[in-house]
Amino acid sequence: MSDLNDLYQEVIVDHSMHPHNYHAMVDATRKAEGYNPLCGDQVTIYLKLTGDKISDVSFEGNGCAISKASASILTEVVKDKTPAEASELFETFHHLVTGDSQKPQEEASLGKLAAFSGVSEFPTRVKCAILAWHTLRSALEGKKARTSTE
Ligand code: ZN
Repeated sequence: MSDLNDLYQEVIVDHSMHPHNYHAMVDATRKAEGYNPLCGDQVTIYLKLTGDKISDVSFEGNGCAISKASASILTEVVKDKTPAEASELFETFHHLVTGDSQKPQEEASLGKLAAFSGVSEFPTRVKCAILAWHTLRSALEGKKARTSTE
């Protein structure tokens, strides 16, 4: 078992304390809310789709450091991506945090998201890490109901 310090790596702490793109978006074209009942994390993802690109993305929410940092980093990495590219990134990230990664080169492409690799040793925190991603997917699919990790 790793030390908790491994889990709360510097990048996670930094993003949770100073989340990026943390604001509502008045002219969002898509919006979705997510909830992780296991931990009490809540997140709202705002998107602006321009053509086939996520031209802007922001979030608001309350939750643990992991859920906040994950949402913060998500907003950075999916910007200017197509919805297809974003869901591909979600797949790779999901493999990483569940410890199911088959391809090391996949992880190399994750950049900042690789900071969450330690989460795979804490199964109860996996849902904290992927909540924002599930919510992003709901926003892209135009789902109206609140997304739950359960
Ligand atoms: Zn959490």
